[in-house]
Amino acid sequence: MKDTTAAYQRLQALILEEGCPVCHLSQEAATTYLDTILWESSTDLNVHELLTASLGFCGRHSRELLAFGGQRPAAAVVERSSLLAAIRRLPELVADAGSPPPSQFRLWGVRHQPQARKGEQPPLPDSIKPCPACVRQIDEESRGIKILLAHLEEFTSPLLTAGGLCLPHFLQAVSIANHTEREALLNIQQSVWATLAENLDEFIRKQMHHHHGEPISEPARQAVERTIDGLTGLYPVR
Ligand SMILES: [Zn+2]
Ligand SMILES: [Zn+2]
Repeated sequence: MKDTTAAYQRLQALILEEGCPVCHLSQEAATTYLDTILWESSTDLNVHELLTASLGFCGRHSRELLAFGGQRPAAAVVERSSLLAAIRRLPELVADAGSPPPSQFRLWGVRHQPQARKGEQPPLPDSIKPCPACVRQIDEESRGIKILLAHLEEFTSPLLTAGGLCLPHFLQAVSIANHTEREALLNIQQSVWATLAENLDEFIRKQMHHHHGEPISEPARQAVERTIDGLTGLYPVR
């Protein structure tokens, strides 16, 4: 049956871009979500309730609010709601503070680790709901991965060109893939990372003193960033 869902069509378009398509798809969903929240923030009671429950967005998504052109007053309304809710809830949070201790910072990434591992920030207490934009993003990630697997044959060639999946999304995909899909994903990932390693080697070799002045190819020039993207996922940098 032909897949006509919006997510499939977005994935078809986004897989033509450089980098992990599931990162692109899920971040696009979170950005659209934040944009909607900004437009509705001053009038929508549900938004207010949402921000009271989560005490605002995580560090990444809060900062993303500031990246929407001309929307700083709306971001201020969102942050005001979150701050006032935090002030109101302070006594309750202090009373509940026990084990696990509330973390000082909200980190993107704790979502996959409900129990903090050694050296990581402990998760927030249960009474603070997760960042709603993260929830939206995680939702779209699993939708994107399912679509990718369902259309793996169609997506193999563009995925090879895009540079494969990032490591977190690769692991998420193989965890729900059948045997054939696993083998196909493994082949794609091994192939694109072998090329990436060659690009890194070229960059390092040509940067060495005795090769100085030798032209460096574009893939080699971008290899360090591509490696970080590949191992950690695509994070917008501002
Ligand atoms: Zn990714
Ligand atoms: Zn978030």
